[in-house]
Amino acid sequence: MDMSVRSTMLPYGQQWLDEADIQAVVQVLKGDFITQGPTIQAFEQKVASYSGVKYGVAFSNGTAALHGACFAAGIGPGDEVVTTALTFLASSNCVLYQGGTPVFADIQPDTYNIDPNQIEAKITSSTKAIIPVDFSGQPAEMEQITAIARKHNLVVIEDAAHSLGADYRGRKVGSWADMTMFSFHPVKHITTAEGGMIVTDNEQFYKKLLQFRSHGMTRDPQELTKDEGPWYYEMQSLGYNYRMTDIQAALGVSQMNKLDAFVEKRRELAFLYEQKLKGIPGIILPTQHPDTHSSWHLYIVQFTPDFKGGTRREVFEKLRNMNIGVNVHYLPVYLQPYYQDLGYKEGLCPIAESYYKNAITLPLYPKMSEKDIDYVVECIKRLANHLA
Ligand SMILES: *Cc1c(COP(=O)(O)O)cnc(C)c1O
Repeated sequence: MDMSVRSTMLPYGQQWLDEADIQAVVQVLKGDFITQGPTIQAFEQKVASYSGVKYGVAFSNGTAALHGACFAAGIGPGDEVVTTALTFLASSNCVLYQGGTPVFADIQPDTYNIDPNQIEAKITSSTKAIIPVDFSGQPAEMEQITAIARKHNLVVIEDAAHSLGADYRGRKVGSWADMTMFSFHPVKHITTAEGGMIVTDNEQFYKKLLQFRSHGMTRDPQELTKDEGPWYYEMQSLGYNYRMTDIQAALGVSQMNKLDAFVEKRRELAFLYEQKLKGIPGIILPTQHPDTHSSWHLYIVQFTPDFKGGTRREVFEKLRNMNIGVNVHYLPVYLQPYYQDLGYKEGLCPIAESYYKNAITLPLYPKMSEKDIDYVVECIKRLANHLA
């Protein structure tokens, strides 16, 4: 194979937009409602029924959706929420927004998901909720996690930003937790440019999320404390403007039609990586828990000190120089300067910390071809054989 460096950067993730998506957006632009219209509900219903639950509440982004879930769960000052050390900032920032305290649990060394035993170990009389994250697209151990939650009377908010379309023990992500968050950022499984959603089967959470998304307001006659007239609305809690537009929702509806095909393509590409990368010394490939069927948001490889092509940093820099948009997911959240200032100490979650030292995320998105995969694999082999 020709081993010259490719001329353009292969990104680590990228959206797939087609003519149907563009037409769906144009339709809304030509209609009466570009925000607060009927397309929002159509999108919410589509994602909720895909997930096997009754309600969906769309938000301006996944982070706002997580904030809403923490509000609905009643998180406030003095409350502790257990989440994984290995996640994006938003999974624990949402607890801080509500004045609560994030408590970090370590990961399992094989799946990189939050370890249910570590959750148990962190529970105190102040614990109110658990936020598991389906890391890289592989669902966390939701059966054990929901059992722990029942035992201690905790709310489970699943951060499924990575795992739309995945299933766990034969059931779709979205139907396991009390509330499940999806993100529609362009690198995620479907996109609305920016966007997020909470899906839930719980009517009370649903109503709280609706209010929270729109200033804490309601116009529902059954919720109003008095009847001032037909113009009347009430603010019953402190909410935000976290609404999604109908323009975005139209894109979301159209993207949902392609979700299963996107996930299938990601699974095929992940399989190709596995077939082509296995056997290279010093490389740890992702493992699949037998209970899960990942939707493969990320394909992450650990380059251990046995890898012949250099340190993690050297490998990363060389791959970038070969125009491969590698990434690292993630520095354990509590090692961020902001969290260090809050008093979290290095060494808190040793498995997540040692994972971080070796991890590199390889490009993975539905538009990739087998040729792209071959390029990445050949570059890694070049490094292993001291040819680059
Ligand atoms: C993307 C992501 C979020 C936040 O979603 P946004 O839509 O970007 O706000 C939260 N948690 C995880 C794990 C994510 O990957």
